Amino acid sequence: MDYSLTKLKQLMKEYNFNLKKMYGQNFIIDENTINNIVAKSQVDKDTLVIEIGPGAGSLTYKLALSSKNVICYEIDTTLKDLLHENLKDLDNVEVIFKDFLKSNVMYDINKYKYKKLFVVANLPYYVTTPIIIKIIEDNIPVDRIVVMVQKEVGNRFKAEPNTKEYNSLSVYLNYFFNIKKILDVSRNVFIPIPNVDSIVIELNKKTILYPLKDTNLFFKLVKDSFNQKRKTLKNNLKQYNLSKIEEVLNKYNYDLNVRAEQLPVQVFIDIANNLSLK
Ligand code: SAM
Repeated sequence: MDYSLTKLKQLMKEYNFNLKKMYGQNFIIDENTINNIVAKSQVDKDTLVIEIGPGAGSLTYKLALSSKNVICYEIDTTLKDLLHENLKDLDNVEVIFKDFLKSNVMYDINKYKYKKLFVVANLPYYVTTPIIIKIIEDNIPVDRIVVMVQKEVGNRFKAEPNTKEYNSLSVYLNYFFNIKKILDVSRNVFIPIPNVDSIVIELNKKTILYPLKDTNLFFKLVKDSFNQKRKTLKNNLKQYNLSKIEEVLNKYNYDLNVRAEQLPVQVFIDIANNLSLK
């Protein structure tokens, strides 16, 4: 594949494709950045890769060379011909022209045999969080996620308690994954140039998860605890059995006047398990 900007512009003209802001289309035009992401992703010939938003296929192409199969979801059907042209040499890529958020991913990946399942993507920024939440809530059995995201959003994913970035999503993600930033990416490697900085983060599925009696209750508890960030648990969780919550908090030397942003994931797990009737 020819990675030059001249070639991309020529293909865009030939296939009558215009970049669309509404789909978060900032395409990478720097081959080194692509090589770096693929190397850091650690995909190999045992890996099935899910890519959300292949765009013109620049990341897809190199992922396909290093992995067993790549299955992509692309919302923009006007990319069909251009993408087909760029990926025509490959026989291990499937492109599904659908909104990832509305796709039955478990059904789509079922026909593949693989040892490892990774998500690798330069995510559309307007739906980064819903995409990550879908991966968790649909129970897609990913081993590793390597995604380019807006710097601020990535910082929230890996935030620690007592920081302003720590929120309910940080708690969910830290329950399931070990999270680390692996790359800073200059805004100059994109077309068009975005007005925010980007980072690539890795989320590695934890091999041992602390047992949760009721995962839905945990999700709800965390969401409600952060409902009004500056309020105490006593105020945010009025509808819960507060004495059962207090029991756990006391064990960790907190009381009901604590705020959710002060609590590590382990405390939320213990509270959810104490509240659960199961
Ligand atoms: N992977 C390409 C690259 O790195 O150059 C393009 C990345 S661009 C930031 C995001 C891509 O996601 C676009 O191609 C866009 O059309 C696609 N996209 C946006 N929303 C989507 C959705 N809900 N489902 C699937 N693809 C989506």
